[in-house]
Amino acid sequence: MVVMKFGGTSVKDPEAIQRLAAIVAGEQARTGTPVVVVSAMSGITDQLLDAVAAVERGDAEGASRKVAAMRDRHRAAAEALLTRGDVRDEVIDALERQWRDTAQILHAMAVLREVSPRSRDAVVAMGELASSRLVAAALAELGTPARCVDARTVLVTSADHGLAQPDQPSTAARLHEHVLPLVQDGVVPVLGGFIGATADGITTTLGRGGSDYSASLFGAGLKAAEIQIWTDVDGMLTADPRVVHGARPLPSLSFAEASELAYFGAKVLHPSTIAPAVADGIPVKILNSHRPHVAGTTITANPPLPEAPLTGLACKRDITVVDIRSSMMLAAYGFMRRVFEVFERHRTSVDVITTSEVSVSITIEDRRAIEGIVADLSVFAEVGVESEMALLCAVGERLRLEAGLAARVLGTLDEFPLRMVSQAGARRNLTVVLPQAHLQAAMARVHERFCLAPVPVPEVVA
Ligand code: ADP
Ligand code: ASP
Ligand code: MG
Repeated sequence: MVVMKFGGTSVKDPEAIQRLAAIVAGEQARTGTPVVVVSAMSGITDQLLDAVAAVERGDAEGASRKVAAMRDRHRAAAEALLTRGDVRDEVIDALERQWRDTAQILHAMAVLREVSPRSRDAVVAMGELASSRLVAAALAELGTPARCVDARTVLVTSADHGLAQPDQPSTAARLHEHVLPLVQDGVVPVLGGFIGATADGITTTLGRGGSDYSASLFGAGLKAAEIQIWTDVDGMLTADPRVVHGARPLPSLSFAEASELAYFGAKVLHPSTIAPAVADGIPVKILNSHRPHVAGTTITANPPLPEAPLTGLACKRDITVVDIRSSMMLAAYGFMRRVFEVFERHRTSVDVITTSEVSVSITIEDRRAIEGIVADLSVFAEVGVESEMALLCAVGERLRLEAGLAARVLGTLDEFPLRMVSQAGARRNLTVVLPQAHLQAAMARVHERFCLAPVPVPEVVA
């Protein structure tokens, strides 16, 4: 069985949902009944967060205008997709009820003037609840028996609202209870990604872009043969196409390379997606719902090495570098522990770390606690902070295998002011930190010299 996840642009309007229906029908004919996971229609999660932000500012009216716009968009899509009177009325009513609930939750938040992570999740989950309902009805209308399953009854998580951690054994049990029987009956289960609930049924979310993660958790729980991530590009590309012109799709890459690229900014895949698939060796494919005939990218444990020296590049902007200097570091043990305890206390995760004898540099993405971090570090060290930095990460199995490749990559960057350079023990990636203003040029340089040659032939299946 195959798990198929469709991102926001792949369910963004009636035409996209019709394309989805054709792709799902094709898969059902080919490999049997799949499980479908959908994101919210594109832009909806942002609009829901905007509505919460409006309430937070005391602008209850602004929030209800946003809800009305979302309701209208879903209603218009349902009217365009569904023709059979009874189903159409039922789905439209259910969607109306849902948006009414959303307005009520927001109203309550406005009255109380309280936005908690828990209530924010209750609102934000509405996007996936609505899209899964709509897509299930559209599939059935277009000839594929399908049923919407509330993902909150299936994906069991911790209570860390906004970034909930899955409980995989409980989720697997729920999948066997609520999802597998439908598949066995030839009915396509349609679940919202990104959303779950605690064991006592309180709504949670997995973090932005988390629908990919839901799909891989479901794939692992059901021991699927394949996890498909359907999106708006031809697969994992050699670099972020918004940063590098001429980035090319990669026919294959390893779980480890995909994880590194995702972790360091390749938005096409949520960074947690790969872990559940690795555990069961389930191939993950990235496919384009606008061009379903293109073969896309297949991610497995041991694919053939790509011909180019590097597999791909990833990058992140708006990185902050924290420099910590102290003579106490010299030959002292326990210094690093004190440093990391500060970041832990402020619940801020660190990405890249480099050390010398008397200094350590650390990058962070989340600046919210920066003042507290600096104050706490300043108790025992001199601290400097540099913002507007970027992180460029070169990834490839060949970095591990070919001595000198990392040096050559750094050599091409000799004109750039590199602030940090890091290569981890596993050596599948080489990461540099540089001022953001130089990122695009540095990416283009490394991409052109190391990611393209020789030119791969795009793989197309009949
Ligand atoms: P979805 O809504 O389908 O989940 P996302 O917007 O989350 O889609 O991810 C797809 C986008 O990721 C692409 O449109 C592209 O702009 C961006 N992206 C960044 N890095 C890469 C990369 N290396 N390969 C492909 N896409 C990338
Ligand atoms: N809808 C959620 C988001 O926009 C989850 C996802 O699309 O993967 O972040
Ligand atoms: Mg995504």
